[in-house]
Amino acid sequence: MTKSGTAATSLDRLQLQHRYADLGPVFGTPTAPTPLENPHLIHVNKEVMALLGLDVAEATHPDWPSYTTGSKLFAGSVPLAMKYTGHQFGGYNPELGDGRALLLGEVENSGKHWDLHLKGAGKTPYSRFGDGRAVLRSTIREYLAGEALSTLGIRSTRALSIVGSREPVARESMETGAALIRVARTHIRFGHFEYLFYTRQLDAQKQLVEFVCAQFLPEVTGQPIQEQAEALLRFTVQRSAELAAGWQSVGFAHGVLNTDNMSIIGDTFDFGPYGFLDDYEPGFICNHSDHTGRYAFDAQPGVVLWNLNALAHAFSSLLDAEILKDCLGQFQPLLIEHYAGLMRAKLGLALKDDGDQQLCADLLQILEQGQVDYSLFFRTLSHYTGERPAAALEALVSPSQHAVLQDWLRRYDQRLQKEKRPAQQRSQAMLATNPKFVLRNYLAQRVIEAAEAGDYQPLGILFDLLQSPFDEHPGFEDWAAAPTDTGKHLPISCSS
Ligand code: AMP
Ligand code: MG
Repeated sequence: MTKSGTAATSLDRLQLQHRYADLGPVFGTPTAPTPLENPHLIHVNKEVMALLGLDVAEATHPDWPSYTTGSKLFAGSVPLAMKYTGHQFGGYNPELGDGRALLLGEVENSGKHWDLHLKGAGKTPYSRFGDGRAVLRSTIREYLAGEALSTLGIRSTRALSIVGSREPVARESMETGAALIRVARTHIRFGHFEYLFYTRQLDAQKQLVEFVCAQFLPEVTGQPIQEQAEALLRFTVQRSAELAAGWQSVGFAHGVLNTDNMSIIGDTFDFGPYGFLDDYEPGFICNHSDHTGRYAFDAQPGVVLWNLNALAHAFSSLLDAEILKDCLGQFQPLLIEHYAGLMRAKLGLALKDDGDQQLCADLLQILEQGQVDYSLFFRTLSHYTGERPAAALEALVSPSQHAVLQDWLRRYDQRLQKEKRPAQQRSQAMLATNPKFVLRNYLAQRVIEAAEAGDYQPLGILFDLLQSPFDEHPGFEDWAAAPTDTGKHLPISCSS
């Protein structure tokens, strides 16, 4: 239903608003897309169509390639390259902005607003040395990641549709151009506020604070600007802490946590060389250009806090140092509490117990030392009923760790006795928390290679599995398997 309660709308009637573009020229530059030539449709996301109030019967509409490259614009669209800056690998870069993407506008449906953002739209005033394009490989990776995280309950941008083309695009080798329409509640990043702060455009910065608060914190609308700024910073700290906890709990490494890739509302944003853990490896670095491990898996919570510090510095034009410190001080307790809750759910523990944190930490140590597949272990544990010798679990752990695993299982059995839920109910809850299907790099690679050869069927299969990753999907066991040794640690380029 649309906001007026009418039936779903057609593609040609989708009406866009452009409140961000209306903020003024400081915030970006109106820019026409440069459509890819002869694009062909690869996939349309029916769930996202429904979010936007689009009639899913329109998934076969012949104009998807035109809309997904910008040769046709949705009604009311004002394409705009957004201006932002940001800290990249710890250094400030004043030159950033949408270099290959355009904000098309926003759709209002059922009281919610959704930005549509065309990625791979051609050059913009902020392209610097770039070609304004995205390649098929990275477009597919972004398309899948949004679904994989959302269905695991982690806030993320998603995408409406993807197209491919034959346009050659040079990366480490020659690839082909592709595009997607990214969908998010907002495209405002930490870097938007950094830009306005470092260029001393402080009235515009206040305007942006009010703009974000009006959308996400309506309860502070009309209050003095300091109060709005404080509410916004607290909100961003809270959402970012929840986000980091979520990533750590599902084994997701983002790979490029620069402040221009951090959403002000705590969505996972801008997918590059991300990776889901196969073996539980805390120091996992998914980006092969990240030589120091700045964005390693276990460094993420610390880096998110570093990024929040950078954001807080940009808010120092509005808030006293004491308040900034207090807002940032919320991060760690929120992170710990949220992570503990998520890990308890993975372990099937509905009640809180003092020993839970240690129980979890000890398990993670076994998984690390036993080179155990993270997702497979928790999925298998979801079926555990106290049997001995717990062969299914032992089979996942290297023999040198079998004895410590048995010790741990004895402690787990004792802990489960404190639970009130019947075992059957616990198992069901765990199976709805610990996915069978995970967006592993080797699977993404399989799908990408097929797509590069013109076969999009594997992409469709993986996409469907990731939209219901807790279901058994008999016949698709192959897609639930951990990689062989050669499928682990595939080098993932940060070029996109
Ligand atoms: P990313 O690494 O994708 O987060 O991008 C960092 C910055 O580089 C952003 O300002 C992007 O818009 C810009 N950028 C990345 N790739 C390209 C490209 N191929 N052409 C133009 N700008 C790009
Ligand atoms: Mg980016």
